Amino acid sequence: MKAERWEGVYSFEDSPFLMEILTELRDERTGPIAFRKGLVKLGRYMAYELTKTMETERVPVKTPLEETEGVIVRDRRNVVIITVLRAAIPLMEGLIKVLDHARVGIVSASRGKAPKFEIEMNYVKIPEIRPEDTVIVADPMIATGSTLIKVLDEVKRYGKPKRLIVVGVLAAPEGIERIKSRHPEVEVFVAKVDRELNDKGYILPGLGDAGDRAFGAPVKLQ
Ligand code: URA
Repeated sequence: MKAERWEGVYSFEDSPFLMEILTELRDERTGPIAFRKGLVKLGRYMAYELTKTMETERVPVKTPLEETEGVIVRDRRNVVIITVLRAAIPLMEGLIKVLDHARVGIVSASRGKAPKFEIEMNYVKIPEIRPEDTVIVADPMIATGSTLIKVLDEVKRYGKPKRLIVVGVLAAPEGIERIKSRHPEVEVFVAKVDRELNDKGYILPGLGDAGDRAFGAPVKLQ
């Protein structure tokens, strides 16, 4: 895990295995099946890395031979994962393999067209958020940051958690700046911080539209 230039922002650039999964996700030849599998894998390993930042507790355990000391990751018992439709679905599937006690919220937040990029939130189902909870907002692409700012504003209406974390695949520096200026306490974990955004709000070099790559491009009816 590598600390980035913003406080509380980390990437996994130093993990060759996670970078190999990211390389497959970036590759334009990777089809939807492998793309979804890649997101699940990334979610699982990022969750595993996240547990290293969680509070643990020593507990007694009796083996068939004798009593010894074991460990539980206490914070793993109090997790809420907020899935931002659509592309976060496979990422959440991976996260929940490790964070299997998690309560799950689902929100839809989609970006309008350039240059305004207005965010529409039409579906919001968020469980109770308690003071002991670690809330993880899963959104693969942190681009302009507008979607996440809106989602984080909404999540905070449901309670004040112990930690509020964003987990993504790629982030643009512009998006991180905006999130940190509005929600400074939020921690961000991404596979990699990419170079920049283009004028359509896509991350460069990026991986394209994560939702379309995972599920196919939707048809727009007239
Ligand atoms: N959302 C995506 O899916 N890709 C980007 O590059 C930016 C936002």
